[in-house]
Amino acid sequence: MPRNFCRLRLLGLNLLIALLACGSSYAARTSRTSESSGSLTTVVIDAGHGGHDRGGIPGQRIAEKDMTLDVAQRLRNVLAASGYRIVMSRDSDVFVSLPTRVAIANSYRNAIFVCIHFNATQRSGAGGIETYFYSRDSLQLASAIHSYVAGGAPSSNRGVRRRGFYVLRKTNIPAVLVECGFLTNPTEAAYAGSASYRQKLAEEIAAGVRGRNIVGSASYVDQTKVAKSEHRRSKRSQKKGARKKKSSSKPAGSEARSGSIDREG
Ligand SMILES: [Zn+2]
Repeated sequence: MPRNFCRLRLLGLNLLIALLACGSSYAARTSRTSESSGSLTTVVIDAGHGGHDRGGIPGQRIAEKDMTLDVAQRLRNVLAASGYRIVMSRDSDVFVSLPTRVAIANSYRNAIFVCIHFNATQRSGAGGIETYFYSRDSLQLASAIHSYVAGGAPSSNRGVRRRGFYVLRKTNIPAVLVECGFLTNPTEAAYAGSASYRQKLAEEIAAGVRGRNIVGSASYVDQTKVAKSEHRRSKRSQKKGARKKKSSSKPAGSEARSGSIDREG
């Protein structure tokens, strides 16, 4: 009997130790999780265009694809320094299709998607910063990024806009497309040509990513109906143009250029 009693006491002790061990490892796990909440978010950075797709409009002096890649790489450096996990949809001058960009974004959980573009239009006076989102889950991120980028830029504020761009419509994580100014506007093209300005853009976008949970949702212009009619129009013109010149079809470019309400070309 006493031996059994001893065995029972030992069993109890073992159980207590096991429970304590379990509890401490649980505490370690939760403290790691709370310590890193937010900082471990994956940011998928999408530099618009690339490779044969220069972006912008025909004859544009500064290639949009170079500016978007430069800002994207700067943004990666700033966010990585803040502890975010970064995924780049492209990290060199290569063409990446829109479905591939979306597939990359959708393969990450607890992630956000930030798409970098610059605007273009035939009307050289058009200028300003605009930020797009589509899903309701993306409005807060769009509002935060826009408030920092537009707030920190000397260009005019064209507001937050809701529109069904392919990369915004097809992604199932919060997704935002920032148009960082018009490369066809001489003043904004000069800003974009400066490395320090592109660094500032990257820092403002990063501030928006970090502040996405504290900046309130902005009011926005709903352009979802415009997107549909433009999509139909661009489909028709693509069919017409396809016979004439295959290389004139630029899926990423047509998406981004239709971002401008001032689109004239
Ligand atoms: Zn673009």
